[in-house]
Amino acid sequence: MMREEIVFGPIFSRRLGSSLGINLLPEKGKICNFDCIYCECGWNKDGRGDTRLPSAAELEVALEAKLADCRKAGTPIDSITFSGDGEPTLNPDFPEIIGITLRLRDTYYPAAKVSVLTNATMLHMDAVVDALKKVDNPILKLDAATDGLVSVINQPQGHYSVRDVVGNMKKFGGDFVMQTMFLKAPGFDSSAPEQLDAWMDIVRELRPREVMVYTIDRETPAKGLEKFTEAQMRSLVKPLIDEGFKIQIKG
Ligand code: SF4
Repeated sequence: MMREEIVFGPIFSRRLGSSLGINLLPEKGKICNFDCIYCECGWNKDGRGDTRLPSAAELEVALEAKLADCRKAGTPIDSITFSGDGEPTLNPDFPEIIGITLRLRDTYYPAAKVSVLTNATMLHMDAVVDALKKVDNPILKLDAATDGLVSVINQPQGHYSVRDVVGNMKKFGGDFVMQTMFLKAPGFDSSAPEQLDAWMDIVRELRPREVMVYTIDRETPAKGLEKFTEAQMRSLVKPLIDEGFKIQIKG
């Protein structure tokens, strides 16, 4: 599913209410430094037709026009979410774009919450961390606790180290949402005890204010992937729930 506009929606969902989406990636392509086997946007190799990233100035024009239109029409907006065809923090204007978005939000829909879904690979850059700290919900992906399983599920395009990413996540002092996809296929299983235990230890180390656990929902580029039910995921994360962590489970 590709989004062709910088600003799209609002889309209504039970979880987020009326949500405006922002896509900081190319209009007709996907750009990501992961190539997750479950990515809704498909494989990187199939989405390389267009590589031009929208600039901060373009985002400002598009977002202000949309917010002004919605306000005029009386359309509610509960959240503004960065979740495009790829990784938003790869856009070099990302820090500036966050500043613009928060300013426009304050002007047009001060009650709307700004969320960013990111794969957390750019947290070594202070400007990216500072920008993410300013939004209401920085949602940081960590799908597996070992470099081996990350290489299978997320297929990083370059150097990736779970320990480095966990170290960078500590810059948030626990004030972030961690997002983890549970899935399995012949050859690997997120719920295998050695994987699950190591992942739970990372949650204990980072103490995020909330953990979102979810599974496959739509068609995936890789075939043969299996999802978990909500009940299965609840029982997998039960030790953390018992320890008082706030866990949102989406089956
Ligand atoms: S990090 Fe997100 S955009 Fe990138 S490949 Fe994975 S699911 Fe797709």
